[in-house]
Amino acid sequence: MSQIRVIIAGARGRMGSEAVRLVSREENFKLAGVLDRKGEGKLLNEIADFTDEPAPVYTDVRECLEKSNADVWIDFTKPEVGYRHTKAALEYGVRPVVGTTGFTSGQLDELKALADEKGIGCIIAPNFAIGAVLMMKFSQMAAKYFPNVEIIELHHDKKIDAPSGTSVKTAELIATERTKKVQGNPNEKETLKGARGADFDGMHIHSVRLPGLIAHQEVLFGGGGQLLTIRHDSFDRVSFMSGVKVSVETVMNLKTFVYGLENILV
Ligand code: NAP
Repeated sequence: MSQIRVIIAGARGRMGSEAVRLVSREENFKLAGVLDRKGEGKLLNEIADFTDEPAPVYTDVRECLEKSNADVWIDFTKPEVGYRHTKAALEYGVRPVVGTTGFTSGQLDELKALADEKGIGCIIAPNFAIGAVLMMKFSQMAAKYFPNVEIIELHHDKKIDAPSGTSVKTAELIATERTKKVQGNPNEKETLKGARGADFDGMHIHSVRLPGLIAHQEVLFGGGGQLLTIRHDSFDRVSFMSGVKVSVETVMNLKTFVYGLENILV
């Protein structure tokens, strides 16, 4: 079987560097190039000390797409940048596997329409950790019986977007099963703005940002005399890589847009 040629955008970042290690250790993957703001014309191993990959570094998205003859574009950058990259990759017929979070629903709709129009695969997943996907699924199941829910997501303090893509995705899944209601005391008043968190369909999402954390979430379901807590912790970014690997392999055979790892796991 020929190798899957992969581009990584954000290759020197926390997630991107982990993705570089993944691509290097998988025999059926080949790092065709990286998109990075540093080191135009150099090789990755000349600008990064965590890898000996001699992949070409590009600073221009279109040049990267034209020259690297890639099959898949992995993106771990920033919301507005990742959106532009994903759109460009689709236009060039390169399949995106996107972990960058914070896209708006309008951007997701647009990317879905473009992937469908081009008839090529595109996977966008706010969380590539299989345990996190199960946490979301179990939360969706529980919501049928427990309509009173609060989501607490906890991340490192370098994270830009809030609430996390995972918490929004969890809320969306919960909303498919939960009897819609506005939670809490109807007369409640915030004496400090934001105390009750963000409102999603009447349930609340709270974002914690602290150094030392990676990515964690707990979903609290309250019922008469009981509390159900469903929690997932990523202690290391390697926890996301099995999902990235499955996505790179799966996207090669897809002809549509998929949002969420749960939709490709069998
Ligand atoms: P990070 O360490 O800050 O890395 C971001 C990378 O993007 C850096 O290499 C940065 O390069 C690059 N970048 C920023 N702006 C750019 C631009 N205009 N053009 C090209 N490259 C640019 O962030 P991270 O912790 O790896 O997170 C990256 C994304 O992944 C975030 O959206 C985060 O929420 C998401 N994430 C997803 C998952 C998942 O499972 N789906 C898990 C964890 C995190 P510079 O150094 O030059 O700025």
